[in-house]
Amino acid sequence: MKFLCDFHLHSCLSPCGSLDMSPSAIARAAKKAGLDAIALTDHHSALNAPAFAAACRREDLHALYGMEICTAEEIHCLALFDTPEAALGLGTFLYDRLPDFPNIPDKLGDQAVVDESDGVLDLVPRYLGNATDLSFIQLPGLVAAHGGLFIPAHIDRPAFGVLAQLGLLPPESGPILEVTRHRLPEMQSLYGASRTLVTFSDAHRLADIGRAATLIEADGFSLSALRDALLARRATPGLRP
Ligand SMILES: [Zn+2]
Ligand SMILES: [Zn+2]
Repeated sequence: MKFLCDFHLHSCLSPCGSLDMSPSAIARAAKKAGLDAIALTDHHSALNAPAFAAACRREDLHALYGMEICTAEEIHCLALFDTPEAALGLGTFLYDRLPDFPNIPDKLGDQAVVDESDGVLDLVPRYLGNATDLSFIQLPGLVAAHGGLFIPAHIDRPAFGVLAQLGLLPPESGPILEVTRHRLPEMQSLYGASRTLVTFSDAHRLADIGRAATLIEADGFSLSALRDALLARRATPGLRP
């Protein structure tokens, strides 16, 4: 089965995410864009995962649940899970690894936890946009221990990607790498022979959902089937719905 996937999306829970990025609005926009499967990857929190699960069910979309983690070296990494509960478990752990720095909504943006009807349930008090105290080499093991899939995010960006922050790609980066769509040919020539490359939108606004997607040919829709497919290179990045 083939799934057109965008597994890097931010909701209104991310301080940098637009307030109209509610889980229900994301699912509607993803369906309209022609995606088959999406993942919610807010910074260091999966508190909108339950609403996202309900919204994706309503739109008949496949869903994964996760987050984007910022390491102590300021490298962004994705962690993807099968269930909201698994993602929430890692999110609870990560919250305590962030500096105890309060969010200032007027300056940094709102961090809204919402329900499936866009009702605001809570505002997260600690700023989620900071770096954790976890090092890059700790993350693959941590994500695996929670049952998740680890993917270094936008490795080729001028900041917050592993190449920019470390100047090299350490072995801990693992076999699957997210790259930006416009640099895909260059990244393919550098890493395509030894790694699986994926492109996702990293959307913070509704209009950007699906701007980059990856077609994954998996035996079914589960994290383990997707992992197997990615490891077997049954993935075509650089697509738009
Ligand atoms: Zn990022
Ligand atoms: Zn992101």
